[in-house]
Amino acid sequence: MGERSQQTIARVADVAGVGFLWGADVRLRFLPAEPDYGVQFVRSDLGNSPPIPALVDYTVPRERRTAIEFGGARVEMIEHVMAALAGLQVDNCRVEVDAPEPPGCDGSSMFFAEAIANAGIVTQDRPRQVVTIQEDVIAADDHETDVRAEAAAHCGLEITYELDYGPDSPIQAHTVTCRVTPESFLEQLAFSRTFVLEAEAQALKAQGYGARLTTADLLIFGSQGPIENELRAEDECARHKLLDCVGDLALIGCDLRGRIVARRSGHRLNAEIVRRLKLAHPNHFFVNPETNGGCRAA
Ligand SMILES: [Zn+2]
Repeated sequence: MGERSQQTIARVADVAGVGFLWGADVRLRFLPAEPDYGVQFVRSDLGNSPPIPALVDYTVPRERRTAIEFGGARVEMIEHVMAALAGLQVDNCRVEVDAPEPPGCDGSSMFFAEAIANAGIVTQDRPRQVVTIQEDVIAADDHETDVRAEAAAHCGLEITYELDYGPDSPIQAHTVTCRVTPESFLEQLAFSRTFVLEAEAQALKAQGYGARLTTADLLIFGSQGPIENELRAEDECARHKLLDCVGDLALIGCDLRGRIVARRSGHRLNAEIVRRLKLAHPNHFFVNPETNGGCRAA
């Protein structure tokens, strides 16, 4: 696979829905952007708030979601939007959202991916920057929770997600591997939904989150499996965790080539492997918040 050109969307696309966390009616709008713009989120409900580059340097720590912040503006739970953009190789896009979070939709990336695909994707007259993983880079919590980045013989990005919550979990251990391309993203990943355990769902509600969510909107696992809901695939949970990886790895701001193996990881470790990959490939990065260069060869 040689160099590819940067891409943006051909026209504006809208997605409306309810925010998972704060429960507001939210409208998200994808807009075309010039080469090297990258992906930037804009809080359209806040007057004059600056665009927030969707890059790891702008992430702020949050439980179980990926959030970015700049100049007093913040957007949380961006990962499923980011996965749709990265999965379909839309490199330059302004994402306007009139709330602190995108619409949750069905907890997957499908609505975003369909909106982008329907808008159309156009190539731009500028090469897309690439980081080719040369040596092992690892981010670990402990001996069974880590993300490893490795060199690979092929020229794409292959991600493996090993999900294992232990023998007592209602979610069985399973593993999914995907060579991420626009086709494989649409067919194998985009439909997979966010999931939580019943106790986690109750804890979130107790904290005031998800007031408008029902078991039909969010895949909640009780001791016997999904509550009032059905899996879209036996391995939907690992597929969703892999989808989350696609969205989080996109915070590097360029294409990645190599192999990623994630074991039980979540958004925090995903961001950490991106930071470490940047440190391991320092010449590939030049971050300028004004222009969001993000990923230019130095
Ligand atoms: Zn997710």
